[in-house]
Amino acid sequence: MEAMTDTDVLIVGGGPVGLFLGCLLARQGVDFRVVEARADPHSHSRSIGIHPTSLELMSETGLADGLIQKGIAVQAGIAFGNRRRLGTLSFHTCPGSYRFILSIPQYQTEAVIAKGFSEIAPAALERGERAIQIEESGDRLDVELESGTRVSARFVVGADGSTSTVRRLAGAGWSGKQYPDSYIMGDFEDDTGLGPVACVFLARAGLVESFPLPGGVRRWVARTDSFLENPEPGDVAELVADRTTFRLSVGTCTMSSGFRTSSYTADKMAVGRIILVGDAAHVISPIGGQGMNLGWMDAVDAANVLSAVVQNPESREAIFHAYHARRKRAVKIVNRRAEFNMWMGRAHPASAVKHLLTWALLHSPIKRHFANQFSMRGIEPSS
Ligand SMILES: Cc1cc2nc3c(=O)[nH]c(=O)nc-3n(C[C@H](O)[C@H](O)[C@H](O)COP(=O)(O)OP(=O)(O)OC[C@H]3O[C@@H](n4cnc5c(N)ncnc54)[C@H](O)[C@@H]3O)c2cc1C
Repeated sequence: MEAMTDTDVLIVGGGPVGLFLGCLLARQGVDFRVVEARADPHSHSRSIGIHPTSLELMSETGLADGLIQKGIAVQAGIAFGNRRRLGTLSFHTCPGSYRFILSIPQYQTEAVIAKGFSEIAPAALERGERAIQIEESGDRLDVELESGTRVSARFVVGADGSTSTVRRLAGAGWSGKQYPDSYIMGDFEDDTGLGPVACVFLARAGLVESFPLPGGVRRWVARTDSFLENPEPGDVAELVADRTTFRLSVGTCTMSSGFRTSSYTADKMAVGRIILVGDAAHVISPIGGQGMNLGWMDAVDAANVLSAVVQNPESREAIFHAYHARRKRAVKIVNRRAEFNMWMGRAHPASAVKHLLTWALLHSPIKRHFANQFSMRGIEPSS
């Protein structure tokens, strides 16, 4: 067994949420470390949407500019009903200094955060270290790593993703449901001429979404009636051709995959000296692109909470309880919005009614409110 090292806060998981939390704690002068199981960063492009609220949170740690340089600022979303244009939702009317949704693949987002982290806390991340056990020891927690090293921490954060070991060891519970909605997606060369806009096709046969990506690429996402784990590029192109006026060039596809949708939430966001953030705390349906963004809001909330309890440990119970209540409320709102997005995308015999409602909404003053909702306003943590 290797010697025990001490820290105030141990973050388990160095994904986009764990590393962002590290940046925030470093700025607040909190003593912390991060252990990350993977030896190398991964190269998946799962998440692509960064909302204005997140850019505001990122700007406080100097990360927003690096992200904006690498991404595409999506100024508006256009809705189509079958092949007819129903209207445009512009983000220009949203409050704040970032009036767009940034489109950037998740591996690039993680690289920008990792770079910022290495500048502000160069020695605080240990890669290739998996947490496997947590034991209480007086007013501290002893965390055992697979390598045999032990870390003694006053507080532990589970930022270790949807299959979180920390959540299981804390006994925080995990409840939720599967949705009937599954999707296939692919990244294709963008010769649509649409420019920096997102498109939503509320086709009679089911939803298609399309987002510009850096490097002249466009992501296409199409709803399927049954789950297709490994679709061919041709499967995506076929659904897009059936439901829109666009023909994708199959040979230019660089990625195709399928995903199911579900929502799961930890029953307790804080247990004893442990708190949860990001996918360890909640899994949100990707339709609407909110999961990672919500994780960053958790991180801002968690950084404030941890900074307070490190200075004033007696207040831990009340502060952690309030954290639990705030995070539960935010998850509920985000899930409601994701469920609305999925409902809009379902095939429906009366789809003409949906189209009429969408047209009316996009031609009324309510659309400002809708743009705010779509860009994740109304659930920001106080920083
Ligand atoms: C198809 C798809 C599209 C999506 N699109 C969007 C989008 O547009 N916008 C959005 O906001 N979200 C989106 N999401 C969700 C987003 O990908 C996740 O919310 C995000 O990755 C969560 O980040 P995280 O850091 O909490 O967890 P993760 O990214 O899962 O990172 C957890 C880290 O913990 C490490 N780890 C695990 N166990 C241990 C352990 N025991 N010890 C040490 N380390 C450990 C892992 O190696 C990993 O690096 C999408 C998801 C999917 C599937």
